[in-house]
Amino acid sequence: MQTTASTKIPPTTAEVVVVGGGPAGAGAACMLAKAGREVMLLEREATATHKICGEFLSAETQSYLRRLGLDLDALGGHVISHLRLIREKTIVETALPFHALGLSRFRLDEALLNHASESGASLWRGQRASVSNVSGSHIDLDVKSAGKVSTNTLFLATGKHDLRELRRHPVTPPEDLVGFKMHFDVDSAQCDALANHVELVLFAHGYAGLQRVEDGRVNLCLLAKGSWLKACGGTWEGLLEELLRTCPHLQRRLSNATPLLSQPLSIYRVPYGFVYHPPANDADNIYRLGDQVGVIPSFSGDGMGIALHSGVVAASDYLAGLDAGHYHRHIRRDIARQIWRAGLLYRASRWSPSRRLLMSLAGLTPRSLSLATSLTRIPPAAVTRAMRRIS
Ligand SMILES: Cc1cc2nc3c(=O)[nH]c(=O)nc-3n(C[C@H](O)[C@H](O)[C@H](O)COP(=O)(O)OP(=O)(O)OC[C@H]3O[C@@H](n4cnc5c(N)ncnc54)[C@H](O)[C@@H]3O)c2cc1C
Repeated sequence: MQTTASTKIPPTTAEVVVVGGGPAGAGAACMLAKAGREVMLLEREATATHKICGEFLSAETQSYLRRLGLDLDALGGHVISHLRLIREKTIVETALPFHALGLSRFRLDEALLNHASESGASLWRGQRASVSNVSGSHIDLDVKSAGKVSTNTLFLATGKHDLRELRRHPVTPPEDLVGFKMHFDVDSAQCDALANHVELVLFAHGYAGLQRVEDGRVNLCLLAKGSWLKACGGTWEGLLEELLRTCPHLQRRLSNATPLLSQPLSIYRVPYGFVYHPPANDADNIYRLGDQVGVIPSFSGDGMGIALHSGVVAASDYLAGLDAGHYHRHIRRDIARQIWRAGLLYRASRWSPSRRLLMSLAGLTPRSLSLATSLTRIPPAAVTRAMRRIS
């Protein structure tokens, strides 16, 4: 039952309200609905949208999506088996320890939302929600069409956006980084060169990921210092021009490319390294999922895996009668080390001498890249435990 807000009015109560229909919220809603629970899923966007993301689906991400019942093969992603790490003229290549998938968020998020709806969740699009009152077991939300929605259990899955009333804890200082994403149509030789590869390009002021997604489209997603963006004139066009001028590899890949989006997606002030630490007076009926519970540096390509894992763990803890306090301890145990290790690697890659050292190590033993990839994944035992809880 998919619906938009324009014609109908959402109900005013639900056993569980999920705010945010990204991988975390939609994944949790699928699971709760399949267990026969009354779940309302509120998504701010009225229609499918592009989102800033490298669009790299790790093995865990794919396993969760399939286990939740999504027909991933029908979505036409591009299989990725190899990683190329590039810095200046040095290129190191290695096989990934798993097969990843390149698939746009435009296609993936829409399919997952529809799947949640088909699984029995009451999906409401174009509904920006905010919290108006939390008192004991009772939570009131202000929602665009419904006015007020009341629930005893809230799953907060709004991604990097905080609801004003329910800020993250602890407050982590955001990095001076800006992110951009653009889809390109590249010439056939470059498209062939990118077949089955994800490329991670290190440049002086940041890094870029380049890979194919569905239909031969190529996704460029990059993170760069805000100060560098300013030096490039403060615009995407200026930044891209400077990037291609100073990075021959990207110049080769994108010289005859046509942008496929009317404008790039952008993001700034991402709280990389954040892991939710509940304050003493935390509500025991508000479960935080996805980027609301932990934000891993993007190069790891596992943010969606964490989002789905947290959605599954939150739903199964809730179904087992365990409160949000228990869930937050549980999810912290599962993801904190992975996020910490990814942060360490990320900081090393930003500092010029250690960046050179990393490249030399990768050149000597390309399999060390594969090891780094494994270190930044959710522990397999935690995934196996969570996966068993999906019926
Ligand atoms: C530059 C960059 C590159 C990345 N690359 C990758 C990658 O290649 N692979 C990977 O796995 N991860 C990647 N990530 C991380 C990944 O995008 C996130 O970790 C993941 O999307 C988190 O999922 P989520 O469901 O928590 O949040 P989101 O996917 O952000 O979904 C949140 C949803 O909530 C909705 N929403 C927000 N506020 C409200 C509101 N008030 N009311 C109703 N709805 C609301 C939004 O519209 C959105 O649909 C990247 C992140 C960045 C910044």
